[in-house]
Amino acid sequence: MPWLMPVLEQFGQALDQGRLPHASLVTGERGVGKRHLAECIAALLVCDRRTPGMRSPCGECRQCLLVAGESHPDIRVYQPEKSRMIRIDQVRALSQFAVASPQVAGIKVAIVDRADQLNINAANALLKTLEEPASDVVLLLLQETGRPVLPTIRSRCRVLPLATPRAEEATGWLAAELASREQAPDTDRQALALHLAGGAPRLALELLDSDFLTRRDAALEAFRQFMKGAITVAAAARTFRDLGLEATLNLMEAWANDLARVMAGGDARDPGIVEVVRYLATSNPPWRAHQLVDAIRDSRRALVNNVSPELETDRLLVQWRGLMPVRKRSAG
Ligand SMILES: [Zn+2]
Repeated sequence: MPWLMPVLEQFGQALDQGRLPHASLVTGERGVGKRHLAECIAALLVCDRRTPGMRSPCGECRQCLLVAGESHPDIRVYQPEKSRMIRIDQVRALSQFAVASPQVAGIKVAIVDRADQLNINAANALLKTLEEPASDVVLLLLQETGRPVLPTIRSRCRVLPLATPRAEEATGWLAAELASREQAPDTDRQALALHLAGGAPRLALELLDSDFLTRRDAALEAFRQFMKGAITVAAAARTFRDLGLEATLNLMEAWANDLARVMAGGDARDPGIVEVVRYLATSNPPWRAHQLVDAIRDSRRALVNNVSPELETDRLLVQWRGLMPVRKRSAG
């Protein structure tokens, strides 16, 4: 993942110069490789044979073998579990880990995968660890773009923004990852996955490895039928339920953005939605597309509270349908 190199280099230089930040906040789009980067940094930090200028671990020492076996006791990952949030007891475990002596390495690394998913108690508990740093612990906090992290946490971290790779770089990486597969998806499918992943290559790979694209195809077909008035909102919403609300919102936001693009004289990026958005663009003023994007963002904000996914999906579908000319709607 060549696009991680600038950030790894930045971190490596700080390490070489003895200016290693106690806590770093790696920010970037979902699926861009934040976790992978954090794991690379952690592996480099614990390696016994690390020398200045080294940007990847030796791969041979005892520490590196433990890392390879995913059993290094001085590297811990804290991430949301079923609740989708990191809970206070997880942060308490982190705090204990931070003050305990390293077991086999000279340093401990705690990765908080989704510092934007800490509930308020957990965030306050983490703040204590950030305020009174032990000298032999490095914290790597990961933040997904667009998801807020408490300013008090952010201000105690060195922020390392991880940029989404350029399209050619992402396409090339994805193709190379898939090249060894027996039944690699074709380039159209790869391009679609990258598009749906917002250009984030690891997420695109994840989508291709799951049945996401199949479920997305079913939702798209139901959406088309619903817009024509051929099926009910309940029937359409059912196919979206299989995708989950987060993926539903991502899809709808991408479609709404496509609509805005077409209204502005550009092209839709999702080939599956071209026909629908072209039709809608002929009969709606541009502000309707932006209104739709706003509604989808409202739903996304509501996601952290326990909203009913069915109701949110219904609401958005009805709003989309409102863009159809009235004559067409009654004819359906
Ligand atoms: Zn090593």
